[in-house]
Amino acid sequence: MADLEVDYLVIGAGAAGMAFTDSLISDSDATIAIVDRRHRPGGHWNDAYPFVRLHQPSAFYGVNSLPLGSGAVDAVGLNRGLAELASGHEVLSHFDQAMQQRFLPTGRVEFLAMTEYAEGVATSLLSGERRTVSSRVTVDASYSAVQVPSRRPPSYAVDAGVACVPLNDLPDAAPSHESFTVVGAGKTGMDACIWLLLNGAPPERIRWVVPRDAWLLDRACFQFGDAFARTAQSLADQVEAITAAKDRDDVFLQLEARGELVRLDSDVMPTAYHCAIVSQGELAQLRRIEDVVRMGRVTRLTPTEMQLESGTVPNPPGTLFVDCSAAGIPGRPARPVFSGDRITLQWVRLCQPTFSAALIGHVEAMDDDEQRKNWICQPIAPPTVPSDWLRMMAVELDNRQRWSADAELQRWQSAARLDPFTSRLGALGAHETDAMAHLGRYLEHVGPATERIPDLLAQP
Ligand SMILES: Cc1cc2nc3c(=O)[nH]c(=O)nc-3n(C[C@H](O)[C@H](O)[C@H](O)COP(=O)(O)OP(=O)(O)OC[C@H]3O[C@@H](n4cnc5c(N)ncnc54)[C@H](O)[C@@H]3O)c2cc1C
Repeated sequence: MADLEVDYLVIGAGAAGMAFTDSLISDSDATIAIVDRRHRPGGHWNDAYPFVRLHQPSAFYGVNSLPLGSGAVDAVGLNRGLAELASGHEVLSHFDQAMQQRFLPTGRVEFLAMTEYAEGVATSLLSGERRTVSSRVTVDASYSAVQVPSRRPPSYAVDAGVACVPLNDLPDAAPSHESFTVVGAGKTGMDACIWLLLNGAPPERIRWVVPRDAWLLDRACFQFGDAFARTAQSLADQVEAITAAKDRDDVFLQLEARGELVRLDSDVMPTAYHCAIVSQGELAQLRRIEDVVRMGRVTRLTPTEMQLESGTVPNPPGTLFVDCSAAGIPGRPARPVFSGDRITLQWVRLCQPTFSAALIGHVEAMDDDEQRKNWICQPIAPPTVPSDWLRMMAVELDNRQRWSADAELQRWQSAARLDPFTSRLGALGAHETDAMAHLGRYLEHVGPATERIPDLLAQP
């Protein structure tokens, strides 16, 4: 007999594991053990830099049963006029509250913190005590394999005498340096540049290594409440862009023309896409940096120069290098969500890890037909290149159609905090003529768009 016997063993108390467990608690009477090598829930948010914020609205992130934030619209700052974005501390506090005030008091959940799990054995990282675990279902809530700079060394050589820090150390290290080189152009690289600019670093003293330009989503397109008409417009624009495009590259130009996607420099065609979101205010700040190095990835830093894949540039005096080169979400291949006694948490809605995990938890609790569960929960592998947006949309549109045909799931979605779209749609008033018109346009183009995507993806 195992030391610990539960219905579900969840490996990982990050955002995905927490959102999944929350649904399972709501919709079943299962017993659950959550194992994590960290000391508290929240996964990679525990390692985040001090100035991190969500880049999507708090309103639809976290666990479904508890609100995150107050639903406010920011009155100041670069996100002015848009739904609030939780800080890293708020995200951690949300997950802590979920664990302490909701999960553990049920008496059905055990949280094994500071514990490494492998092949049926949970080993305490402090005492070394090993407990065998037997579960009906094992839930892999670590498949996203998120990478953050503070947890790994830079992916390039750094010679002795070079000042190079992960962006977690930027606030402490910045005051003693004259100039800054930010290495990496994902969410963390953008955050480092914006932090420097907002804290007074002159733009001419910032150099930014952008190995690949990325298409970025304009945050104004993901707003709910009174701003829902813009979101409805965005939904319609996405499918219309697919039908109107001349070819695959043109899809992204069409999306840009409609205000859906933005890029750093209108002369550079992006070759990357990672679901990063910016506001127009943030974009305007980033464009103040003129010394943008587009020479591929950094390969080596020496005290005098920066070596990159396609050239070398000298270091300005007193340079602090800020490493933001971790992959974030590395983009592992999709695999079936439900497979025998194993569930692998993945996105089932584009770029929405917590909604996806919550929906998978709900489906698991409501249904025991594996084939049907996988039919409802087709996984979406995270993107790396722009055409991945089309690949993801193909699955997303299919999933949307399957969910809308399921009355029970529609009911769940309408009540789900993490799905503001379905609930807002249900509450749409006849006076909201703009939103209605956009939804009409969406319905007109969604079928043709679905049919066109395979052709666009097949283009060289
Ligand atoms: C800076 C940053 C900002 C982001 N902002 C947003 C945003 O605004 N909106 C959004 O939707 N997404 C955002 N993301 C994406 C983010 O990755 C997801 O939102 C989510 O936090 C990922 O959670 P996860 O549970 O999949 O992974 P993780 O947070 O990595 O959690 C996995 C957990 O599993 C544990 N674990 C793994 N293996 C084992 C094992 N064998 N034994 C014990 N424990 C184990 C790990 O310790 C970890 O705690 C952001 C990512 C980053 C890096």
